[in-house]
Amino acid sequence: MWKEEKRVKAKTQKKDDKPGVWFMTRHTLKYVFKTAWQEKKIVFLLYFIKLIGLILGELKLLLLPKLLVDEVVAISEGAAVDVHLHNAIRYVVLTVGAELLSRTLGNIADSSLAYCSVYLDRILTYRLCEKSMDMDFQHTEDPEVLDQRTKAQEGISWYSGGITGMLGVVCSVAYNIALMLTSVTLFMFYCPLILPIQIIGMGLITYFNFRSQKIATEAFMKLGKLNRLFFYYLYEVASQKFGKDARLYDSSDLMSRRAAKFGNESVEVFRNRSEGTVKNDYKGNIVNAFRDALSYFYIGYRTLKGFLTLGDLTMCISAASRLYQSLLGIGKGVQSLTEKCGYAYQFLVYLDYPDALSKGSEKIREGEHEIVFENVSFKYPRAEEYVLKNVNIKIRSGEHLSIVGLNGAGKTTFIKLLCRLYDVSEGRILIDGVDIKDYSIEEYRKLFAVVFQDFQLFAFSLKDNVAMGRADEDMDETKVEESLKLSGLYEDAIKLDEGMDTLLFKSFDEHGTELSGGQRQKAAISRALYRNAPIVILDEPTAALDPIAEYDIYKKFDTLVGGKSAIYISHRLSSCKFCDRIAVFSDKTIREYGTHEELVKKENGIYAEMFAAQSQYYTNSGFCA
Ligand code: ADP
Repeated sequence: MWKEEKRVKAKTQKKDDKPGVWFMTRHTLKYVFKTAWQEKKIVFLLYFIKLIGLILGELKLLLLPKLLVDEVVAISEGAAVDVHLHNAIRYVVLTVGAELLSRTLGNIADSSLAYCSVYLDRILTYRLCEKSMDMDFQHTEDPEVLDQRTKAQEGISWYSGGITGMLGVVCSVAYNIALMLTSVTLFMFYCPLILPIQIIGMGLITYFNFRSQKIATEAFMKLGKLNRLFFYYLYEVASQKFGKDARLYDSSDLMSRRAAKFGNESVEVFRNRSEGTVKNDYKGNIVNAFRDALSYFYIGYRTLKGFLTLGDLTMCISAASRLYQSLLGIGKGVQSLTEKCGYAYQFLVYLDYPDALSKGSEKIREGEHEIVFENVSFKYPRAEEYVLKNVNIKIRSGEHLSIVGLNGAGKTTFIKLLCRLYDVSEGRILIDGVDIKDYSIEEYRKLFAVVFQDFQLFAFSLKDNVAMGRADEDMDETKVEESLKLSGLYEDAIKLDEGMDTLLFKSFDEHGTELSGGQRQKAAISRALYRNAPIVILDEPTAALDPIAEYDIYKKFDTLVGGKSAIYISHRLSSCKFCDRIAVFSDKTIREYGTHEELVKKENGIYAEMFAAQSQYYTNSGFCA
């Protein structure tokens, strides 16, 4: 009984953890056929043409030499020359015609397939990127998901050859089946014993090939992570994004050492893979040599015994090698197909990566919005420690809240939870009395215009960077101008070579511009203003500025925001004076809450202490009244 339970458990576990080869092959092929049918139906016609060309070429090689040899032998044995010579010439002409036709069909198919292949590869790349952009944010920093993305990228391109790579193998298997059936039919009439010799030989060789494939697939699974690390150190860290830090901290040696370490580990995986596959190849070669010897011995024996003519002998020798080639081709084809589908299946796994966040369908109601955090606790996925614990706060519509606290106190995490980049671990966040998990996430995110500390500008034009999701056809250029004016970037923008159309960064256009730190912040703030969302959040995008400049920007921004709800984060006190309320984060929760006047008077208060320490910065800027 116990044994039975264990067996069932092992069986279900295997099923859950790792799908089987045939499962992966079936699903991948279904996807491949469906995509090719939806996106480029002509590939099926092209493969059909290719198949006809290949079969024609083989029939020519199998049958015409036999017919020709029999005619020549008949002439040499004294039969009527005019009849047999005439036949022989006809076979030669047929050979030339079949050769030309088969090659022409092959060429037509191959040249068009090359173009279709690029087209279909682009479609797959597009689907992969679309998934990466649409997946829940927390997946984008999850190492398991990142490894899966590398496997998906490599699996659907290099390793599987993409859609045409897999369809090409299906076509080759179909061709080999046709060749096998032709050869088997011939042998049934001429040399029936050849069949078991070939089948046993092929069975053994396929077995060795499958063992090689298993070794190769295991290596592929290990290489996903190693390649990602290797390319991270070698290419990404060498990119402009890391350029300054890498140089100033003299880290190129460190990067090279790390890249070399992971490079060596990949080489080791490849070495083990080669050693394993080569052993199986040797065994296959030995079986092959025996198969050849036995087949030829048998055909020769039947010819000597007078069962076969010289033409039959030629055909049988050719058919023996074709039967073997076709059986081997089918075995290798199926093996290669399962291997390629196994790699490409990683792409399907990635496309189907489950959502991390629960998704509702409630619509956001028009008008004012009240935010409530109710006993919210949170720890990051895969982390042990809570980052926030029992956070309670109510932010009324139109209220301006300042969140302060030391670095690492959980301020940004609070915002990430509010914007639903993550879901809370415990407690609830309510907007207008409804749990935010119940809202449609796309609708919900429209509530916010956020400028994070690590905001990113893209290598698009300045106006596209401001309009972002509403760039292209929906862009309201007058509104872009207004947003730039409000943030104070407009004057600088019109001085650029192509004004708001100037491309940011020089990576794609030598006439592109590199904005200064302050201009970049203004561009990011313009983006938030353009969005015109009811809740505006600044999460220290100004941390690089000195306290007074930061204070000025926050103050100006606060005027621009007007009657909307606003949340300002800083570990300095820049935004506290003009905000309605201040929440002080410490020890994973909100320790103090109130107006500036209330908190500053609190004895031994965290805020009062921070204020005393920082007030020197603000006395001249009007912060301390
Ligand atoms: P603050 O904005 O107050 O500086 P954060 O909210 O960024 O603080 O970070 C709070 C804590 O959460 C820190 O200890 C930080 O290391 C941790 N943390 C931040 N982001 C992640 C993440 N993606 N995964 C795991 N831990 C994180």
